[in-house]
Amino acid sequence: MTRLTGECLCGAISFEAEGEVPVMANCHCTACRQSTGSAFATLMFMKQDDVKITGAPKTFQHKSDAGTVMTKHFCDTCGTPLFTQNSAREGILGLRAGLINEQEEFAPKVNVYTSSKMNATVLDDALPAFEKMPG
Ligand SMILES: [Zn+2]
Ligand SMILES: [Zn+2]
Repeated sequence: MTRLTGECLCGAISFEAEGEVPVMANCHCTACRQSTGSAFATLMFMKQDDVKITGAPKTFQHKSDAGTVMTKHFCDTCGTPLFTQNSAREGILGLRAGLINEQEEFAPKVNVYTSSKMNATVLDDALPAFEKMPG
């Protein structure tokens, strides 16, 4: 059982999560790079029901390259990217790992979409890497 807490930069939106975190991934896809403004996204996937959100994130939807609907949640005051959802994974919420206070809980297990990673990003060879999304 993992307990995670965090908030956006301005503090208007916070979360408390408690549950299993079966998937932790670094995603190097172009949409993650654009929506985070970072070289890659660091995500912890949990059951949506295990995450209690205080405040009202704004959402933006776009299509993934696989044709599914992605929903990005962010703070419309400070712009912090908070959560992500994929219509192909009902009931699962991706938490942006950079937000968590319990940073010892984050250990990425996989790199995905390495086909679109930035040239300067050095991958940890100990982790499996996938050109796209596995499965
Ligand atoms: Zn904020
Ligand atoms: Zn991505």
